Amino acid sequence: MLLQYRSGTLSAKESGGIRTLVEGVTFSLDAGESLALIGETGSGKTMIARSVMGLLPPDVQADGLSVTLDGYTADEAGVTALLGREIVYIPQNGGEFLAPQRTVRKQLYDGLRRMGLPRKAFASAAAEKLRAAGFPEPEAVLGKYPFQLSGGMAQRVTIALAACSNARLILADEPTNGLDEAGRVRFFDLLRELFPRAGILLITHDMDAAALCRRVLVLCGGRSMEQGDTAAVLAAPKHPYTRALLAARVRSGMVGSPVLRQKAAFCPYSHRCPDFCDRCLQPIPENRENGREWRCCI
Ligand code: SF4
Repeated sequence: MLLQYRSGTLSAKESGGIRTLVEGVTFSLDAGESLALIGETGSGKTMIARSVMGLLPPDVQADGLSVTLDGYTADEAGVTALLGREIVYIPQNGGEFLAPQRTVRKQLYDGLRRMGLPRKAFASAAAEKLRAAGFPEPEAVLGKYPFQLSGGMAQRVTIALAACSNARLILADEPTNGLDEAGRVRFFDLLRELFPRAGILLITHDMDAAALCRRVLVLCGGRSMEQGDTAAVLAAPKHPYTRALLAARVRSGMVGSPVLRQKAAFCPYSHRCPDFCDRCLQPIPENRENGREWRCCI
């Protein structure tokens, strides 16, 4: 198993008290497998990704967080030491992620240096990474600064940069925002081609993007509602919240709605659920069946 994750409780101190951001979320990821974390804004998916990378904001407390990589429980310093080498982050907006004052060439060379390549191999390796990321003429891109790249070009440069690593775990944060269906499929084909043995953790609010991953975990209010094989979850969702997400599916993502964030023993979807009943006010049971997991009293 490449990654085993337990969130414990992630919470932030606020003037009105403690706010629970994520609670009791667990998942695992094999090498070569892809898992989509899907939920609305505020559902906790980005906080989970940050906790995997050991990059929680200073005001967020972790109680019971456990990140195990290849069977070894990694502390925060251990995980951050792997960033850019074996754990690679692909951001939502490549243009903002790239260092603005460094050319594409210099940024690729930085990555190749971290990989331990000899200096004399940099030029050919940088060109090869750009070609693999979809630039048939790398020379036309190497000398450019990030502000000279279109959004799509910047995103492909971040993938080329990711390829300057020995990535075993890739965290991709809304990487296909703004891309049409063909663009999304191309992006995932490229990831699989470049990183056939890496585990891919996709953070998204877009069900169409999540559908390209083998497994999906649905989040609401910082808690796991349902997880399982994507095809099975999409074909027959067990949880009312997953059904609501699918019903609200629109071309550019999902219809936004308020997110409950307060710590509560009961279901975080209860205020909006059409199936709400008295049992929903009790601690919610965890159900398991044929590799599917969901938390609901019906
Ligand atoms: S536990 Fe109750 S409120 Fe929550 S999703 Fe299930 S039926 Fe709806």
